[in-house]
Amino acid sequence: MKRILGSAGLICALLLPAILSARQAPTLPALKQEAVTEVDSLQRLTQQMVDEIFSFSELGFQEYETSRYVTGILEKNGFQVERGVAGIPTAWVATYGTGKPVIAYITDLDCIPRASQKPGVAYHDPLVEGAPGHGEGHNSGMAVNVTAALVLKKLMAEHHLVGTIKIFPGVAEEILGSKAFYVRAGLFKDVDIVLGTHVAHEFSTTYGVGQGDWTGLVSVQYFFHGRAAHAAFAPWDGRSALDAVSLMNAGWEYRREHLRLQQRSHYVITNGGDQPNVVPSEAAVWYYFRELDYPHIKELYELGNTMAQAATMMTGTTVDHHLVGSAWPPYFNKVVAEVQQKNIEAVGMPTWSEADQTLAKALQKEISAKVEGLKEKVEPLKEPVKSPNGGGSDDVGDISWNVPMVYMFYPANIPNLPGHSWPNAVAMATPIAHKGSTAGAKVQAMTALDFLLQPELVQQAWDYFRNVQTKDVHYETFLAPEDKPAIEMNKEKMEKFAPQLKKFYYDPLRYKTYLEQLGIQYPTVKANP
Ligand SMILES: [Zn+2]
Repeated sequence: MKRILGSAGLICALLLPAILSARQAPTLPALKQEAVTEVDSLQRLTQQMVDEIFSFSELGFQEYETSRYVTGILEKNGFQVERGVAGIPTAWVATYGTGKPVIAYITDLDCIPRASQKPGVAYHDPLVEGAPGHGEGHNSGMAVNVTAALVLKKLMAEHHLVGTIKIFPGVAEEILGSKAFYVRAGLFKDVDIVLGTHVAHEFSTTYGVGQGDWTGLVSVQYFFHGRAAHAAFAPWDGRSALDAVSLMNAGWEYRREHLRLQQRSHYVITNGGDQPNVVPSEAAVWYYFRELDYPHIKELYELGNTMAQAATMMTGTTVDHHLVGSAWPPYFNKVVAEVQQKNIEAVGMPTWSEADQTLAKALQKEISAKVEGLKEKVEPLKEPVKSPNGGGSDDVGDISWNVPMVYMFYPANIPNLPGHSWPNAVAMATPIAHKGSTAGAKVQAMTALDFLLQPELVQQAWDYFRNVQTKDVHYETFLAPEDKPAIEMNKEKMEKFAPQLKKFYYDPLRYKTYLEQLGIQYPTVKANP
């Protein structure tokens, strides 16, 4: 070959690699710009995913339709999908690319009991009475991550970028049911950076303990066993499991006064017996024990077990308990958050229409919240508070203590809502959610590019993880070796409601949007009284 190269050939041979490498590696800003353009070109798909998953309305561990739909899109687009990971039928991992770094996206997909709601309607109007619904907005997260992943895949292929993209579903987040099992199954062992994302009414990120409004928890069900008897003819022959539940709860309420202010604990009675003339032989109560750190959570969990045991002694019953979920309080990576913040600022808030603002204000008025419409500006980087007060939990916490991770909050919902209920579903299949998800996808794609192209940033994130975050605190799972994912949870509820919900599944081939399919005028608000 060499001999037939003339001088022109030689010049070509010398220049070609340079030309090729110039073609192979556009600058990072140019790639980010390309990512933004590509995300915009996928707006229709993003909207379809938001609407479709909204219409599935599946509770934790029962996200079968949602997982089938999302993995279908990913497989069609060249991602390898492994299903049923960590012993959870609705969990999976989708992978594209090879080599380091390995960047993982994660977001939730389950919904909330009794939160069924027609989208775009600013008052309570369920799609199916009593049915589950997306009263937190988890239907939008996969639209964000999958859009970003498809764009990344295109750019990686086009420009020969080295690295691996993984996508995880936050199965059963509402019952904190999956992530500790993901970690135990080693799903994050080879992952370098985790970019988690969660629906919000603002565009923001944070690091460390953030605003201090997180807790970790153990979620546990206590099953009491007594002895049935005729409640009037022979009550002395019976031993009431319901009495044990009641006494455990009463004991907890008295003790609550003497617990740290940072704790949050709550319970629901999931089985209170069958009918009054039968002494309940079976009864059950479900507790969430929340605190700020591992030792305090463990202490509450053990106190709960003691109280359950004490209640059996008072009532002549027995008890066993099943762990449903557990979560470390999330702790986010400063290096990743700082990189992400710049991208949030570059993307900026979506442009809200008059109709979007009208819906937001009408809903805020309807539920007696502060009426201020939708946010217009992105938030500055939220510095961590000094003394956390505690609040809700998210089982991504377990991941955040194993790999450098952040949560990007994208603006797809309305401010000042109560959470975990129908008002939080109102915007979630409307242009508010569609635009917010597109904005979120841009940041997810841009931040992944930052880490794919700058290995030194991956190193810095790990330095922070090792030398700051986990310098004195080491991850230890709440799971006992015999604990298994609670994959039977919500099965009956979904079996009851799925046939009714199916009639309302979104058909993107026939209707441009879900609002159009449902014949909902956007926005639908109460006439002024
Ligand atoms: Zn959530």
